[in-house]
Amino acid sequence: IPQVEIVAVGNELLNGLVTDTNSTFLSAQMRAHGLQVARVSVVQDDAVAIRSALDQALSRVDLVIVTGGLGATHDDITKQVLADYFGTPLVRDPKAEAMIRTFFEKRQKPVPEAALRQAEVPQAGRTLYNDQGTAPGMMFQRDQQRVYVLPGVPREMEHLTRQYILPDVATVGNLCLQQRMLLTTGVVESALWEQFGPLDALESLVKVASLPSHLGVRIHLTAQGKDENETTAKLDQAEQLLRDVLADYIYGRDEETLESVVGKKLVERGETVAVAESCTGGLIGHRLTNVPGSSRYFLQGWMTYSNEAKIKNLGVDARLIEQHGAVSEEVARQMADGACQRAHTDWAVSVTGIAGPDGGTVPKPVGLTYIAVAGKVPTVCQKFVFPQDRVRNKERAAQAALNLLRQ
Ligand code: ATP
Ligand code: MG
Repeated sequence: IPQVEIVAVGNELLNGLVTDTNSTFLSAQMRAHGLQVARVSVVQDDAVAIRSALDQALSRVDLVIVTGGLGATHDDITKQVLADYFGTPLVRDPKAEAMIRTFFEKRQKPVPEAALRQAEVPQAGRTLYNDQGTAPGMMFQRDQQRVYVLPGVPREMEHLTRQYILPDVATVGNLCLQQRMLLTTGVVESALWEQFGPLDALESLVKVASLPSHLGVRIHLTAQGKDENETTAKLDQAEQLLRDVLADYIYGRDEETLESVVGKKLVERGETVAVAESCTGGLIGHRLTNVPGSSRYFLQGWMTYSNEAKIKNLGVDARLIEQHGAVSEEVARQMADGACQRAHTDWAVSVTGIAGPDGGTVPKPVGLTYIAVAGKVPTVCQKFVFPQDRVRNKERAAQAALNLLRQ
């Protein structure tokens, strides 16, 4: 697999102000196109640092991508350093200049002199014209080695990568590489792999990466072969091996989301849903309505945070709350039943829990959460005890609720 190195330039990346997401993006894109990012160097806006990072990278690999520091401000020096490095002067590029003038004319703003300086590009390089911003990128070639230099603004960097780098690297390497992501939830990483058992058969087909988060474990598969038929076949076989054991946990693939999968099922069956949320504060409704076309199945939601709201709006029995507390299986069930009846939907999902960090007691710890689904089958309720982290607990609860709705 051909190797690539990235040099991310910017003081802001090293003083904790900005996360280097450009390298993450580039790594994923390179991987998707059959190349491997072998190293990322993050350096300050400093000529010595940039030159030395470039020297080292070019001593190891033939393809280097530099991002950041192409701006018009005094601290952006990448362009000058690169031009000096490759021994070529900067010259005004008429097309780049015209694009910069158009950029400001469209916004009905005068063109700052500093912006015009961005139309200066290295004479010996190739200009990567940027119609999303004012700083063009550039590409230098020396023998078989290539250095791409991109602006730091993520949107512009992504745009120029797609427009200029990806078409170029498509021809590098003759091995076909294909990847697939299987999305799971409802099981922790260690339990998931324990259930799956030995990895030998799976790893003889694909390279496996296990990516856990508080919402689930993503299983990333990479297949290698002489062509796409071969890699697709390997991925299909690998996916089948995983599904044979883990079917209950796998909710989707690649770009799918739990809410889009739930939505698809509801559309297929022509069914509708309502939500009754307490501790998730509307997060389930938010996620369900993130899906385009959700108006076909999402009818209504209640955000019943107080006991009174649960009683008044969902018909929860006041005595039940007194007896069992608002965070109880009984109340979760009545919330779901009440939402389903009042919204006249096929399904309703409810959540009641203690999000934390305070408020837990001995029989009811922080993180205790009940989730119920009512509707076409007898109402079901699941109990969870999440850890001590308020925002993540809301996210965990919404994820678990959507997962229960999926089943
Ligand atoms: P422009 O002239 O269009 O601003 P530039 O090349 O000068 O482009 P920088 O000044 O280095 O870009 O950075 C602009 C902004 O882009 C920074 O404020 C930062 O938020 C963001 N940025 C820079 N580098 C990265 C990176 N590696 N990952 C994520 N964001 C970045
Ligand atoms: Mg910068």
